[in-house]
Amino acid sequence: QATLKSSSKDPYPDWKSGEPVPYAALCTTFSKIELTTKRLEILAHCSLFLRQVLRLTPNDVLPTVLMMIGKLAADYAGIELGIGESLIMKAIGETTGRSLQIIKADQREIGDLGLVAAKSRSNQPTMFKPKPLTVRGVHEGLMAIAKIEGQGAQAQKVGGIKKLLSAADTNLAKGKGVDITKDKGGPSEAKFIVRMLEGKMRLGLADKTVLVALAQAMVIHEVSKGGDKVPSTDQLARGETTLNELPSYEVIVPAMLEHGIFNLRDTCRLQPGVPLKPMLAKPTKSITEVLDRFEGKDFTCEYKYDGERAQIHFVAHDVAQEFATAAPSAGKTEKGISNIFSRNSEDLSKKYPDILAKLPTWVRDDTKSFVLDCETVAWDLVEKNVLPFQQLMTRKRKDVKVEDVKVKVCVFAFDLLFLNGEALVNKPFRERRDLMYKAFTDVEGEFAFAKYGNTNELDEIQTLLDESVKASCEGLMVKMLDGVESHYEPSRRSQNWLKVKKDYLSGVGDSLDLVVLGAYFGKGKRTSVYGAFLLACYNPSTETYESVCNIGTGFSEAVLEELHSTLSPIVIDRPKPFYSHSAGNKDQPDVWFEPSFVWEVKTADLTLSPRYKAAANVLNDASGKGVSLRFPRFIKIRDDKKPEMATSSRQVAEMYRKQESVGKSKGPAVDDDF
Ligand code: ATP
Repeated sequence: QATLKSSSKDPYPDWKSGEPVPYAALCTTFSKIELTTKRLEILAHCSLFLRQVLRLTPNDVLPTVLMMIGKLAADYAGIELGIGESLIMKAIGETTGRSLQIIKADQREIGDLGLVAAKSRSNQPTMFKPKPLTVRGVHEGLMAIAKIEGQGAQAQKVGGIKKLLSAADTNLAKGKGVDITKDKGGPSEAKFIVRMLEGKMRLGLADKTVLVALAQAMVIHEVSKGGDKVPSTDQLARGETTLNELPSYEVIVPAMLEHGIFNLRDTCRLQPGVPLKPMLAKPTKSITEVLDRFEGKDFTCEYKYDGERAQIHFVAHDVAQEFATAAPSAGKTEKGISNIFSRNSEDLSKKYPDILAKLPTWVRDDTKSFVLDCETVAWDLVEKNVLPFQQLMTRKRKDVKVEDVKVKVCVFAFDLLFLNGEALVNKPFRERRDLMYKAFTDVEGEFAFAKYGNTNELDEIQTLLDESVKASCEGLMVKMLDGVESHYEPSRRSQNWLKVKKDYLSGVGDSLDLVVLGAYFGKGKRTSVYGAFLLACYNPSTETYESVCNIGTGFSEAVLEELHSTLSPIVIDRPKPFYSHSAGNKDQPDVWFEPSFVWEVKTADLTLSPRYKAAANVLNDASGKGVSLRFPRFIKIRDDKKPEMATSSRQVAEMYRKQESVGKSKGPAVDDDF
């Protein structure tokens, strides 16, 4: 655990009790975090700062925590920044009186817009000292920018950014200019504002660290009244579990301040309206691997439907007052209020009004509140069967009107996480499934329970797998049925859920979801489009995209044309500083992109290569080589994944190691979250 001794000297003498948290104080903490890679030190900086906030300005804990995780609100609120480089450069130029040309030249040289902003602001002579920024003020300013839509939005956004930048400090650490190589730009407010605008703080500060820091700060605040008592592992674990079940600081922080951290589990729990992060599965390569892993245990094999994950939340009108439903756009029917959330906790209610409208027909009358884990799948009304995933992807994502829906969907339910006021996540799966069957009625082509067979027999599992494939499914999901191991584990890629996909039984395991970083112009017939692309996995601990392969196979001419038109608008001048690809490589991509799109890719196998950086620091190979994909093939675009949800470096390393150890030993799999 981190050392939590606060220094005797008050680090922020200008910040008085009851006054808003100065943004400069938070930036000072950020710059300390930025200068270390030691997780415990990072944790200690965060925790110390939050203790100060709790002591002096508890009302600002929420915006402070949100800024620490680089977000403006919980994911389901759908508020995102990710402002493009060109708008930010324009705003920096107009605020600091520097020409766009100079800003662009700086950007080419420095490669980090945050530092360009810091430099531009520090060179600027100022007539008067701007009113100091506060954490709350910056949060509100950024929120206003994120919410701007419609005509003239770009100009208004530039206006909003200018307002913030012109109030940012001009003096950096100790009044000196920016020494980019030495102090990474110091605690410059402009730098961190720009990083927030870009949607990447790049502090190496994991969400989990902020959560643990908050738990520590709260425990110390409550237990030792400002002393140095270190919270127990159990106390910290309790805080962490609560947040996984209820991933909303907006709900947790006020409850924590009102009732105290130790009462949090009773006052603040999984509830309809606040999506929980879904449980995910580990890949396997064969049915025998499943039998080995689950030896001696009872398990079930469910069809793995190929559609979109949907978490459906519902509260009947007569019990609605019991829940503080937090999600903004709930659907209302005569029966109750409902929401649908995606795998990323985004609100899908506007995409699936048809599901919300039909929901009353499959919810039994005595089912008053629930959270149901499902897959929505495109459905052929005539043939009465499941359609391929690509059909589902042709549906509009927003503002769908029930009468315009062309691609009908059927909801396949596979788990029940909350029922009639009670969280079920800590009950065995067998019991959750029984409750699910009692709480709903299936309606052909609209709502069904995921098909399954409870068997430990290899032949029967093989038959189920074949049948699932015939029914247009991806394969099987194999799940533990009893005991603690069968509990629902929010946000975990768990050993207790295994996926067996039809098409990777003899391949490397799973397909990969990779981020498009750059492209190469085509040759011959393909000169007007991009002919190949540079793809990367994501390393959440360093917040970098690590190159993993070039890909030019699996694209039809039509797809290449479409990709050219969707990717051209996000071309950037040079690779982002958080792209990791072999320097000095002769065949660097012809163009680089903002990290925006995730593609699913299959590969024949994985190999080590000096050209690519994927998982290099996880594997720690003496030669510094990364993992690369051999013969990668494009499968589809994954609209439902953000770049940060791409296959992680640890997963790539795990796939590589597993492949290496095939036939040698089973070895424990690395446990990885998202
Ligand atoms: P992919 O969907 O590419 O396999 P992923 O990372 O999105 O990868 P996984 O954990 O690999 O998710 O697989 C679980 C996904 O399979 C769920 O997110 C869900 O969308 C889907 N799914 C389909 N049928 C089931 C089922 N019966 N039980 C659980 N998940 C299912």
